[in-house]
Amino acid sequence: MKIIEVIPFVLNEDLEKEFFFSQWEYSNRKISIVKIICDNGLVGWGEAYGPAPVVKESINYIKKNIIGLNPLESDLIWSILFRRVHDYGRSGVFVSAISAIDVALWDIKGKYHKLPISTLLGGSFREKIRPYATGLYFSDSKTLTKDLCEEAVGYVNDGFKSIKMKVGLNIEDDVKNVKEVRDAIGFDVELMIDANHAYSYDEALKLSKKLENMEIKWFEEPISPEFYDQYSDFKAKTSIPVAAGECEYLRYGFQKLLDKNCIDFLQMDICSCGGLTEAKRISSLSSTKGVKIIPHTWGSGIAFFTAINFISNLEPIPGRLYQDDAYIEYDRTENKIRENIIKNDIVMKDGYISVNIKPGLGIDVDETYLNKIKI
Ligand SMILES: [Mg+2]
Repeated sequence: MKIIEVIPFVLNEDLEKEFFFSQWEYSNRKISIVKIICDNGLVGWGEAYGPAPVVKESINYIKKNIIGLNPLESDLIWSILFRRVHDYGRSGVFVSAISAIDVALWDIKGKYHKLPISTLLGGSFREKIRPYATGLYFSDSKTLTKDLCEEAVGYVNDGFKSIKMKVGLNIEDDVKNVKEVRDAIGFDVELMIDANHAYSYDEALKLSKKLENMEIKWFEEPISPEFYDQYSDFKAKTSIPVAAGECEYLRYGFQKLLDKNCIDFLQMDICSCGGLTEAKRISSLSSTKGVKIIPHTWGSGIAFFTAINFISNLEPIPGRLYQDDAYIEYDRTENKIRENIIKNDIVMKDGYISVNIKPGLGIDVDETYLNKIKI
């Protein structure tokens, strides 16, 4: 079997309602995906997390290096691609491009062997995964706090047992919003906060002190990702567990986060950290420190099923007879591409999503829809 074509796409859908977080606003969704075609007709799909048009060009730039290769040899292909960008792309968009290609190769591998990717990774440790709702972004609404409370209660009514909300506006508004949302959903529902690295060390510490009695499951990206020592100090000084990793790349980046004891929860994005091949290596590193992995998951159903397969295979830490739940991030903000690009339904039952039992990623891509929204 040989790779004969690698085709990157940018998908675009405008949003009906704009929203923003601590860094910038969203008025549309742009997602980069890749289709790899083999000489025997097998097709694999992958997705990248990153600026979609730039990722597309990056894939176009590196793809010539893998035409004619055996897609089952994904470690070899990973290494060829990484060596090609090593001198100027050890993090960022080129790694996202490699990630998308790597995910597509695993999809092909699964279809070839007629097995789910989780089985090829070594097997599924669980039958179901607990999704947490990501939402509660900011808007220009004059009743933002009330809107956030209503949105949060909506997620509880949908069956979510864990919800993540944005912080990073300013400390005063963040404290008010978090307290009101906590009040609205009660203490039986888990609540996480995410600043998207909006705060300085001092600000993050101040906010965390004001929220320590709110039973926050984790404080995500309190500080800018470059400041490993500040993360380490912050983690030592707050009782709220610290999460980060969506801006980190490759095992080398995550090794720094782990060695400096920066985090309680490691959140690589499989579609940008180096793909499933590298995510598996990062999970081995993480296991040496006993740090739990809950990947950052964003984008379309392709990325979502990539995460489903990977999380299925995550070794429970610590091991015991009655396992703790494994979590998956389930973005609930407006995103027509998320469900429409795949024909499969993402089904949540009693607060859980079943692991994939179909070959490869376990998805069927709707190419009619793809052709309608590609730019
Ligand atoms: Mg985040």
